[in-house]
Amino acid sequence: MAERIMREKAHCLVLPLPLQGHINPMLQFSKRLQSKGAKVTLVTTRFIFNKTMNQAAAGRPFSSLAVDTISDGFDDGGLAQAGSPTEYFYRFQQVGSETLAELVEKCRSSGSPVDCIVYDPFLTWALEVAGNLGLVAGAFFTQSCAVDSVYFHVHNGKLKLPVPAGSEIFLPGLPALQVSDLPSFVADPESRPLALEVAVNQFSGLAGKPEWLLCNTFHKLEEEVVDSMSKMMPLRTIGPTVPSMYLDKQLQEDTDYGLSLFKPNTDACMKWLDERPNGSVVYASFGSMAVPGAEQMEEVALGLKASKSHFLWVVRATEQAKLPGKFVEETSEMGLVVSWCPQLEVLAHRAVGCFVTHCGWNSTLEALSLGVPMVAVPQWSDQPTNAKCVMDLWGVGLRAQPDENGVVRRGEIERCIREVMEGETGKEARRNAAKWRELAIEAVGEGGSSDRNIEEFVSSLVC
Ligand code: UDP
Repeated sequence: MAERIMREKAHCLVLPLPLQGHINPMLQFSKRLQSKGAKVTLVTTRFIFNKTMNQAAAGRPFSSLAVDTISDGFDDGGLAQAGSPTEYFYRFQQVGSETLAELVEKCRSSGSPVDCIVYDPFLTWALEVAGNLGLVAGAFFTQSCAVDSVYFHVHNGKLKLPVPAGSEIFLPGLPALQVSDLPSFVADPESRPLALEVAVNQFSGLAGKPEWLLCNTFHKLEEEVVDSMSKMMPLRTIGPTVPSMYLDKQLQEDTDYGLSLFKPNTDACMKWLDERPNGSVVYASFGSMAVPGAEQMEEVALGLKASKSHFLWVVRATEQAKLPGKFVEETSEMGLVVSWCPQLEVLAHRAVGCFVTHCGWNSTLEALSLGVPMVAVPQWSDQPTNAKCVMDLWGVGLRAQPDENGVVRRGEIERCIREVMEGETGKEARRNAAKWRELAIEAVGEGGSSDRNIEEFVSSLVC
């Protein structure tokens, strides 16, 4: 304590799960913490650090944040080097705990002792490390509060699995949910037992600790469920974690996340968009992890083609073999397919009229923050719940309905795109999206709900 009073700045280590959808929000949060006077070190794995350092050399540095590393036990290949996700997670727990404690010691001996670890609760072991070392811990929930609430109620036994088919689920602060609205790991517990365990275990060992639960959402977006969760735990909203220059503009340098695990085709995308009329382009992407089947990819391809709109479609290199033969050539007049794009720049472009999205939480928040209406085509994980909110709670788009085999057909994709691009639904969705954008700006702007929560968090560390 005496040591803390002597020093001006609290030092926080911020540790995300090393996946794009977890790094982006925690990296952004780190920038906000730093802007409020904390010293922040973003902690990533040696593998991710080495991989992304090539980008820094190519002129795309992380950001002005300090970065340091721990080991996940797979320094040469990360998750891909492990025999299975299970092996990865268990080894990460063991080697990650040891190397995180070593990093804390290294900081101490170099005169920059650590006060706090903000950890991704997918890595619950970091809470134990913080506890053992007498450090403040903050859990950073990268998913929506609605999704956190579902996992929490599974954890405390109030939502029993398996949920019977056809039942309606009532949870505090949420509308009635169908099984198809639940996160896929909860709706079908057999589908990904490890992912379910990791998601539910986010709430393990939380009694009395950590002192802070930080959720990447904003109060007005999820008011009822946030209020309900806050009665049970010290949950604070700190989002949306979108680079400041797209929202409140408090951080002048903050125009980009700054750490991309994929190489974006920036010039090609922006030049192509510049040549299209306002609101005429459908932007489609399924994020960094979803692996739609070949049949689903074909239906999306043919749905985009049938919509007759211009489209910019991100198909990761590993997915491109699933495109129908000659699709790219046949649609080259109307569409551009790229392996990765600068998504924020794309969503903010005047030419984009709607976003066909898998509804990853970052993508959803980015679309809300930039006022872009959506066609939700959720694939797995938390995406069905986000899609439910997009359509039924926030009124910012349509959720495309799958057939009895779980495939969203081309006709349905075309119908949803046309309605959002040209129909009354689209006009209403655009009005609502503009409203959410204003509320997002208000939340992270000076004195807004998220801004105040971040400030209180930093103040609490300096004592
Ligand atoms: N993203 C990007 N370029 C792309 C596709 C995605 O920069 O071509 C970013 C997007 O802006 C978001 C993140 O990757 O911040 C994806 O996170 P999300 O939670 O939406 O989905 P996930 O990849 O975790 O499924």
